Amino acid sequence: MNGSYLNAMNIGHLDWNAILAHARSLSPYGGPDIPVSAACLDDIPVCGPAELKHISQNAAQEHGAIIMSSGGTTGKPKLAYTPYHQAAQRLLKEWRPLSSQSVLLNLFNPGRLWGAHYFIQTLAEASKCTIAPTGPFIPGEVENWLELLHNIDVDSLAGAPTGLADFAEGILNSGSQLPIKTIIWMGEPWTKAKLKVIRKAFPNAGLWCDYGSVETNSIAVNSPECDLEKYHLLEGQLIETDDQGALLTRIGEGWTVPIIRYRLGDLIKPTTCRCGRPRALLIEGRADDAISLCSALLSTSKITSLAYDCTGVEEVQLLLSCRSPDQKSADRITLQFTGSADASKVSEYVRANIHNLASVVKQYPQSFNAKKVHQLRRIPRTNKIPQVIWVTDDEQ
Ligand SMILES: [Zn+2]
Repeated sequence: MNGSYLNAMNIGHLDWNAILAHARSLSPYGGPDIPVSAACLDDIPVCGPAELKHISQNAAQEHGAIIMSSGGTTGKPKLAYTPYHQAAQRLLKEWRPLSSQSVLLNLFNPGRLWGAHYFIQTLAEASKCTIAPTGPFIPGEVENWLELLHNIDVDSLAGAPTGLADFAEGILNSGSQLPIKTIIWMGEPWTKAKLKVIRKAFPNAGLWCDYGSVETNSIAVNSPECDLEKYHLLEGQLIETDDQGALLTRIGEGWTVPIIRYRLGDLIKPTTCRCGRPRALLIEGRADDAISLCSALLSTSKITSLAYDCTGVEEVQLLLSCRSPDQKSADRITLQFTGSADASKVSEYVRANIHNLASVVKQYPQSFNAKKVHQLRRIPRTNKIPQVIWVTDDEQ
């Protein structure tokens, strides 16, 4: 086949001959073996974290790297060897949240192989701006830092929504104001409650997101003129949509790692964005969010989204109780939430709208319950609040 690789359900366009040459060039460095007869994308084997780790580790022998790891909150931890440049120059061609005048607070947790803090340091350096790597604050600490923050003229923030909301809450509690213009966020989705608090504390801030993963680094971006939940695929890449999780291919120089048909864990579909820019995409959730509860197959995102429908529910988290966390099989689900809703009504509403959950609860009344809590559980390494946490029976 010649010309662009076109398919209505794909996002982005790449030349087939270029894809094939790229795929073949990766084979000696840990990429998959490409059949001699390969004539279309389906003929190229799908890659996983093992291939990416191998390819990036090989490249690191020549140029060095920062070793980063995913935390494994939604799957097995994955290692990545990320070059020091972190593809910042490539990213800045399409996404410039910072100028040389910006003064940025880096609210991401450093250490423990989590990459976000170091990515933001590199982004600031490439943007030639000033950065203060403070790490996250708990709301009660913010007041003591206000004088310093005013002193250095902070106008930009980078963090995960949980850390950003904590910081915003601290600012609101102090009764002071910070003239924040730019907020860079990554790592977890917004909830309505978190978005509300940052809008209240920083009404003039534009939101900028870089969507990617530990293994791939930046994939797609959005900026203040975009719909909040939509992104634009960076040039030089192709995404094939797939029910098992989208497949990413990228070609060209300057990326953190070359990629051929790498399976992302997310379900992605093409869309349009109010900004009018091309290659818009929507992330619809994780492909692997199905779990088994006493042998019934359930979607965790369906359960949480139903809970969010209930009036008075602010934030939701599922604790999946099991004997061995390696299996995707739970014997109890506790739906924890913050807010003012009545727990028994939330539980009843979720059960009424998921037929097989109702059947399981009839047989095993202890297998599902809703509980109102003051705070949801966080992951200490990243300070994020995952939507789903596996716990052993005695931790619940
Ligand atoms: Zn847009």
